[in-house]
Amino acid sequence: MPIEVIILFISTVINTLLSIFIFRSQRDQVGLTYSIFVLFIAFWSLGLAFFLLETDLNKALLFANGYYIAAAGIPMLFLYFSLIFPEKRPPNSVVKTLIFGPVLLFFATLLIKKHFLIEEISVVAWGKDVILNQLHYIYYGCYFILFVLLAYYNLGKSYLTTQDRESRIRLKFIIIGTLISYTLGMVFNLFFPWIGNYQYIWLGPLFTLIMVVSIGYAVTKHHLFNIKVIATELTTFGLWIFILIRTLISETLQDQIINGGLLVIVVFFGILLIRGVIKEVRLRERMENLAEELATANARLRALDQQKTEFVSIASHQLRSPLTAIKGYSSMLLEGSFGKLSEKTHEAVDRIFQSSQRLVLIVEDFLNVSRIEQGRMKYDFSTFDFKELASRIVEEQRPVAEKKGLKLTFSAEKLKNYMIMADPGKVSQVVTNFIDNAVKYTPTGSIAAKLSRDNEKILLAISDTGIGITEETMPKLFDKFSRALDASKTNTGGTGLGLYVAKEIMKAHKGRVWAESPGEGKGSTFFIEFSGDSVK
Ligand code: ADP
Repeated sequence: MPIEVIILFISTVINTLLSIFIFRSQRDQVGLTYSIFVLFIAFWSLGLAFFLLETDLNKALLFANGYYIAAAGIPMLFLYFSLIFPEKRPPNSVVKTLIFGPVLLFFATLLIKKHFLIEEISVVAWGKDVILNQLHYIYYGCYFILFVLLAYYNLGKSYLTTQDRESRIRLKFIIIGTLISYTLGMVFNLFFPWIGNYQYIWLGPLFTLIMVVSIGYAVTKHHLFNIKVIATELTTFGLWIFILIRTLISETLQDQIINGGLLVIVVFFGILLIRGVIKEVRLRERMENLAEELATANARLRALDQQKTEFVSIASHQLRSPLTAIKGYSSMLLEGSFGKLSEKTHEAVDRIFQSSQRLVLIVEDFLNVSRIEQGRMKYDFSTFDFKELASRIVEEQRPVAEKKGLKLTFSAEKLKNYMIMADPGKVSQVVTNFIDNAVKYTPTGSIAAKLSRDNEKILLAISDTGIGITEETMPKLFDKFSRALDASKTNTGGTGLGLYVAKEIMKAHKGRVWAESPGEGKGSTFFIEFSGDSVK
């Protein structure tokens, strides 16, 4: 078999395989158009191969007409491709007719008049020579050049207008790859035959491989895995064909058996290999997609969280001034600034006052939380005596505790230095919150605040004989909005924010807070610890 024919057969096989692979892995209009485009190239090489092989000149004419039709399909599909690539809608039916019509017309003409393009075929020393109908061949050439130029116009326009970097790279690939193929192909397959040189007609399909590969690469670039799968498949199939040919041309039975056995093994492992690669690549793509989705979901959540914090902040600010007015006026009413109140009215106004006071505290907690989350919490550090601060707060809280029948005591290890570097306002907030909680969550018994110092650490422990903390509640105790299930039984107005704010405040002081409790109903102890630089 002449070498040209072998090359043409190989080109047919490669193009057919590529067409199948791309069609299988990329089932969109671009993938489909590309695979038909490659299939036309395969037909063209096949037609050329048979034309060269055929000794009957009548049949050779049929093959020649066949490959001229197949070749005419190449610019047709290229033009169509240029209209839909990278991601455009298919053109309307008028444009489609204009694109597909000429080839159909050409096909019909050849069916009626088989000598329309080729007047005569003759056998010569180097193969077959062809005498073309000059006028009709010029029509053919003009069609070819016009369609290719139109396609380049579309691709160039896409290249200039697209903003997407990825698409631009892909378009560049296509434009350069096809330009090389078309230039070489047109010289050897369109121009040479026109000037009477038919000798190099078989080179065309070889040149088109450049564009087939470059378009294929661009088309599947987003799904790079396909390239990997295709490479594996091509190599494996190549190996199969190679061993199959070896088996067929083996001269001895022994060789045939060895090669045949080898073929079975290679086919078996080849299938396993291809399946493995496909699976791995699919998995990776799925994971990449999932990671991408997760990242966007995360970003959205963060944005939502941010919005929520802002909302809480704005809402709390808006609540503050009317609340202050309610509190102020009810306090003035209670003090008799607007005249003496009857007992009933006094009781009602007192409720208003108590509730507004509670609301003020809740709003303050919300504001603190949003300040912490937005990183806007401001600290005013100074050096002061923690013992003095703690004992003062205990004194302040004592009336409330005594009103509930609870004993509240304060003690400190003597002769020790309790100076700390901290924000006194924020630290009082923490201590007040802990003592307030102890009072709230202790129905009967006592509360003891004990201050101690151990070298670099200052510790305030507030123990109560209250409801205690269960093991389940303990790990979430200092979380935002965290309240024990039965907390509302003892204290209905809580928000579950106090301990969270306290934790964050102490974190900013590089100190810490924690709680211990032997269990439900057995009381609890809350600790506030200053260490390191805060301790003076
Ligand atoms: P609130 O008291 O507004 O609910 P906190 O953040 O101050 O919010 O407290 C969170 C939860 O911790 C309370 O709801 C309660 O369940 C529990 N807790 C706090 N202090 C004590 C305590 N001294 N004894 C028992 N449980 C407590």
